[in-house]
Amino acid sequence: MDTINSIDYPVYFENTLTQLVNFIEKGNYSRCFVLTDEFTSVHCLPLLQEHLGPADNFDIIEVNAGEESKTIEFCEGIWSTLIDFGADRHGLMINLGGGVIGDMGGFAASVYKRGMDFVQVPTTLLSQVDASIGGKTGIDFNNLKNIIGTFTSPKAVFIEPAFLNTLPQRQILSGYAEMLKHGLIEDAAYWNLLKEQGTELQIPLPGLVYQSVAIKNRVVVADPFEKGYRKCLNFGHTVGHAVETYSLQNDKSPITHGEAVAIGMICEAWLSHQKAGLSADELAEISTVLKSLYPKYELDESCYNTLNALMKIDKKNQNGLINCTLLEKIGQCSINHICTEEELCDSISYYGKL
Ligand code: NAD
Ligand code: ZN
Repeated sequence: MDTINSIDYPVYFENTLTQLVNFIEKGNYSRCFVLTDEFTSVHCLPLLQEHLGPADNFDIIEVNAGEESKTIEFCEGIWSTLIDFGADRHGLMINLGGGVIGDMGGFAASVYKRGMDFVQVPTTLLSQVDASIGGKTGIDFNNLKNIIGTFTSPKAVFIEPAFLNTLPQRQILSGYAEMLKHGLIEDAAYWNLLKEQGTELQIPLPGLVYQSVAIKNRVVVADPFEKGYRKCLNFGHTVGHAVETYSLQNDKSPITHGEAVAIGMICEAWLSHQKAGLSADELAEISTVLKSLYPKYELDESCYNTLNALMKIDKKNQNGLINCTLLEKIGQCSINHICTEEELCDSISYYGKL
């Protein structure tokens, strides 16, 4: 699998950790800092350490796992630790983890001493096919997801399939939702390949991960700052983000990003049938595939107001209007569809009746 050239950095798929060591040697960095969470420090750090060599070659910064850590308080912790370690701006931050570590580590590095280099070593399927590609960094604030952040490219991304071996099945499925999205918005043949994997989903083949990265990369290279076409990646995310935030605020054990996006894709496929020409057959196909892969989440009418309020404050909107990316058919989408509150509620009620 060839290296993919993204906006202004390479994405490596072969001999990734050797490539990382070569990259560090060439970069002449004053010091390396590996950012991990409590699980990646157990499951992923040992393999990285085998390549990085003696422990005094680098420092480790560990944060708690999970979305709850993607906050300004944890960034303060990272910055304080960098200061304690005497980090200067010629250091390198190595983000070893899922999307939380990649987004927060990228953000923390992008503003530390006005910008320190960082690389992404994504260890979840979701971060390999999605979060590590495209240069968005950020944290959650005031219970709003990714509301503070920057567009800052990593210096490189290293996608190592071995890390997925320890990933729980639920996290595999979470990333798989973004892969399915890539097929739905851009590539019908890829969607067909994925849907044939069925419900016994194992770790997806590296070739499928590569194809997803290639699709996301085509989009972000065409529109790095999300002025227009990049919004196609938001398919499923208008309703999806609202459901995810709702679950984070209300559930003891919140649903994953991918589970929320799968719900969002069913709702937005229904909207696509109403407003963008998606056929009834394709709506049924999308609903059946997603329903078979992801658990049902109860959303009764009592939460519609909360969901609508969350969708209204979504940062994808303009002038207070709720904006969706919809499918014209499988493999082709169009952006900037204004949807009313009533339409959105109807779409959620379609999901509820499936
Ligand atoms: P995550 O980083 O919370 O990882 C999920 C869980 O898996 C965590 O508990 C983590 O410790 C564990 N884990 C990670 N790697 C592991 C491994 N190899 N083995 C065992 N356990 C492992 O979540 P995620 O799903 O990777 O990412 C979600 C985040 O990504 C969200 O905050 C979302 O906003 C963000 N995101 C960002 C972008 C972007 O463009 N920047 C795109 C999509 C999503
Ligand atoms: Zn997503």
